[in-house]
Amino acid sequence: MLTVYNTLSRKKELFQPIDPNHVKFYVCGPTVYDTAHIGNARPVVVFDVLFRLLSHLYPKVTYVRNITDVDDKIMVAAKERGIDIQTLTTDTTKMYQDDMASLYALSPSIQPKATEHIGEMQAIIQTLIEKGHAYAAENHVLFSVKSDPHYGHLSNLSQDDIVAGARVEVAPYKKDPSDFVLWKPSTPDQPGWYSPWGRGRPGWHIECSAMAKKYLGETFDIHGGGIDLVFPHHENEIAQSSCCHQKPLANYWMHNGHLGINGQKMSKSLGNFFTVRQKLSDIPGEVIRLVLLSTHYRQPLDWTDSAVTQSKNILDRFYTALKDFDDPVEGRPSDALLEGLKDDLNTPLAFSYLHELTNAINKATTLDNKKKHQRLLKENALFLGFLNQSSKDWFQTRQEGSLTPDAIESLLQERQVARQTKDFKKADEIRQTLENQGILLDDTPQGSTWRYR
Ligand SMILES: [Zn+2]
Repeated sequence: MLTVYNTLSRKKELFQPIDPNHVKFYVCGPTVYDTAHIGNARPVVVFDVLFRLLSHLYPKVTYVRNITDVDDKIMVAAKERGIDIQTLTTDTTKMYQDDMASLYALSPSIQPKATEHIGEMQAIIQTLIEKGHAYAAENHVLFSVKSDPHYGHLSNLSQDDIVAGARVEVAPYKKDPSDFVLWKPSTPDQPGWYSPWGRGRPGWHIECSAMAKKYLGETFDIHGGGIDLVFPHHENEIAQSSCCHQKPLANYWMHNGHLGINGQKMSKSLGNFFTVRQKLSDIPGEVIRLVLLSTHYRQPLDWTDSAVTQSKNILDRFYTALKDFDDPVEGRPSDALLEGLKDDLNTPLAFSYLHELTNAINKATTLDNKKKHQRLLKENALFLGFLNQSSKDWFQTRQEGSLTPDAIESLLQERQVARQTKDFKKADEIRQTLENQGILLDDTPQGSTWRYR
């Protein structure tokens, strides 16, 4: 029994797939003109958890996340950098996929590119014109918002809000200010494709309608994305698809909340803008992933240094509990973990179960009992995309600029000799040197172990 909050009905609903043997979902992907910022990563990890959960609950899941590789922002960025569009979009796509993999997000089943589906987009546009939902004017094709009586249902906006909120560009070819572009003309130096309406390129919204139809069918189960996409993007996707097919586009619409930085909106002008890549240079991917999932996905998330420290400490605690556990284990959720996730992806509740397991490990009085809980912790954490490394690797992963493991080992040996010869002053000096470099020692009867702070 999986329940999800459906933006369409504005309530939590029991999830009932169209085909229980094959669940289909779509999430809007990146426009590949710039490196992904931390806000771009939130939907990726949120819907990665959904993908993992659905794949456990159903025999087959198809997850489509598109790549927008034709867009005005791409044309501007390529010009600014003096490179061709193809190079920019190929490189940016590769970086995006690498960055998301560093956050332990699984690859979607299909990642279609907009530029490879122009024919499918033109076919939908043609049908919309034939059915009276779209019109061609001055080499543009526009969707007639007034022709769709359901327009505004997802975002719950009135016609006045829609006109005001569309940030309407005044254009003589529009019959109504709220009408939006399906196709627009390209100048000879801009990317363009031949069409019945002249050489041009698609508007942004139409690609998702076309690629969702191709890979998931006219109606599929779940459509996801960030809350900022509800209007106009998702409203327009629904209008295009449902007017073309006379069917709903998706049965459930799931949206993750905003991500802010220290209580402010992230923006380049405020100087609080940073990319996933920049953060990955000094924060492990698992820590970033935990920060992004520690708040329920529908709530606003505030990225702060203390949230990062807190997540690092939580993972240190989990990894410490697995210090003497090296059994090969695969991700597998316990009922207690599923209970949280099946309640509209309640990840905070899921993490509280991982804490319970850690408490049980720390309190265990028999080795069997300890091992049992260590196994459960590792299986459940792996299912959520955490504890992907061994405890040793986690604590000994070298930070930029710090001593190498070899250098540390040789200092430890020196210190060991100093201790054996009762030169405690030297032993303490070496400990201090290591500590100053962010390396912590733990002296045990079996010898000294170390870890990066
Ligand atoms: Zn989309």
